[in-house]
Amino acid sequence: MLASTHSAASEPAETLTVMGGGLVGCLLALYLARHGHSVEVFERRPDLRGSTTVEARSINLALSDRGWRALEGVGIAEAVREVAIPMRGRMMHDAAGQLTFQPYGQAGQAIYSVSRAGLNRRMLDLVEQEPNVRVQFNQRCQHVDVRRRQLELRDETTRETRTVPYQRLFGADGAYSAVRAALQRTDRFNYSQHYLDYGYKELTIEAGPDGSWALEKNALHIWPRGQYMMIALPNLDGSFNCTLYFPYEGPNSFAALQTPAQVRAFFAEHFADALPLMPALETEFFANPTSSLVTVRCFPWTYADDVLLLGDASHAIVPFYGQGMNAGFEDCTVLAELLDRHGNNWEALLREFETSRKPDADAMADLAVYNFHEMRDRVADPRFLLQKKIEGK
Ligand code: FAD
Repeated sequence: MLASTHSAASEPAETLTVMGGGLVGCLLALYLARHGHSVEVFERRPDLRGSTTVEARSINLALSDRGWRALEGVGIAEAVREVAIPMRGRMMHDAAGQLTFQPYGQAGQAIYSVSRAGLNRRMLDLVEQEPNVRVQFNQRCQHVDVRRRQLELRDETTRETRTVPYQRLFGADGAYSAVRAALQRTDRFNYSQHYLDYGYKELTIEAGPDGSWALEKNALHIWPRGQYMMIALPNLDGSFNCTLYFPYEGPNSFAALQTPAQVRAFFAEHFADALPLMPALETEFFANPTSSLVTVRCFPWTYADDVLLLGDASHAIVPFYGQGMNAGFEDCTVLAELLDRHGNNWEALLREFETSRKPDADAMADLAVYNFHEMRDRVADPRFLLQKKIEGK
């Protein structure tokens, strides 16, 4: 922790507005509340704790050290650890079904598989226990007037629109942020977005009949195939969440797989050892959406001393480095340290936040794209395999 020059307790509390009750928005609300502020969170979706539809696509995320540190900062790491599965390395599946294990680090070191929905639900529980945080669901931000400091919110259930003033606004509303869209209309705001020619699709490896894991549980499984790949992360119930990263166009691509028979034949040829473990393959392949992969860069991340973008809203990255959420969580750790040091001197705080975090976010974005090439291609290169070979499972 950085040395504290301001006592947060001596500063007058403010009412702060957080747009987005996702992973970063929830953690941010906890940090701001623990610094004595009242926090109002607006979330576009319904409360996912009461909804089964919201959770229909429950993907898993890899939680690493920078994420754990951020969770520890508000005392919720232990609760999350109970539902996290350590992955001690990559398990490579070659085309012949041969397995090779590549450890991530020294003995005991791991990254952790956590359910996005489970983590978000847990964090909403904790947020709701804070007396000075209020979360309002089904509230879509349609527009932000940064000069008047006003939000236009649409209630997704009644379809009514209202204007709400804010004192200070934190945009944690993800890669397609409405708060960022408002900053994009201000002078000298730099913005770029870049899509890969690849999309991704979520699929499932089922648990064995006795509820056990059909593949090694404590590993991140990868089927690298040069121009594309599939990965799988373990779930607590014995199943695995798979993600197929695949070109949109070309001979082996989403465009080329148009029928259930084509999908089955493709998997039989390229992912033969996984296919018998995926009984719902064809159904899922056509029912689940094909989603795109975007990198967003922008700067500044602030407007005056009353708007700040965090998480994917300021730095959305492709998922191959497993660091998007972790970097967003680290935003919260850094912001908390600056709150300790600067108290309510928001101008100094926001300037230091954006100038110190931006180079890290850019480096992460570059590494994420680099790691795509490594994961789909280089990890299968025999020269890269210095790890122990495992015959069969
Ligand atoms: P989000 O999670 O997108 O949350 C934004 C919230 O704001 C949502 O709840 C949304 O409903 C709400 N919202 C959006 N617009 C509005 C609006 N107009 N009004 C009100 N509310 C709004 N990261 C990792 O660290 N490890 C991984 O292994 C990993 N794997 C990934 C795999 C895939 C396939 C993908 C796509 C991403 C992965 N990531 C991973 C990245 C991670 O998902 C994101 O970085 C993380 O979710 C960002 O959190 P966030 O809270 O900033 O944004």
